[in-house]
Amino acid sequence: MHCPFCGAQDTRVTDSRLVAEGDQVRRRRQCADCGERFTTYETAELLMPRIIKSDGTREVFDEAKLRGGMLRALEKRPVSAESIEAAVERIRQSLRARGEREIHARDVGEEVMSALKRLDQVAYIRFASVYRSFQDIDEFRAEIDRLAQEPHFSPDNGHGGKAR
Ligand SMILES: [Zn+2]
Repeated sequence: MHCPFCGAQDTRVTDSRLVAEGDQVRRRRQCADCGERFTTYETAELLMPRIIKSDGTREVFDEAKLRGGMLRALEKRPVSAESIEAAVERIRQSLRARGEREIHARDVGEEVMSALKRLDQVAYIRFASVYRSFQDIDEFRAEIDRLAQEPHFSPDNGHGGKAR
């Protein structure tokens, strides 16, 4: 790593230790040219964006909550646990890939809906009816009719091109 003081190409690690209960590596470095010392921290890049709720408050991304919502919609539906886990993982990757520090809860909801739509139509309708809180029964019926028009759902609509 370059020296932040003189820009020299080469710096030497003089000490390396785990901090933050092992979640971080702290390295002391010294520049071979100017002799300055500095510290770097290394963390696995697993941070999820924070969620902006509709009332404007923020909360940490909660994978258990996401999974819980999907499982409720998928209750007694013929969808394997493996497919559900793969969908949860895809949603997480997709949210992280946006590169935003904060994401609106409704965007997360849209991701869940598009995932459920691919997994199971009934689960999709269940989730959408709660999530979008369809204004009236006509709107709800229109969505079901629209779904019925589609002969089948594509197994992958190209979210990152990951295999199922
Ligand atoms: Zn230097």
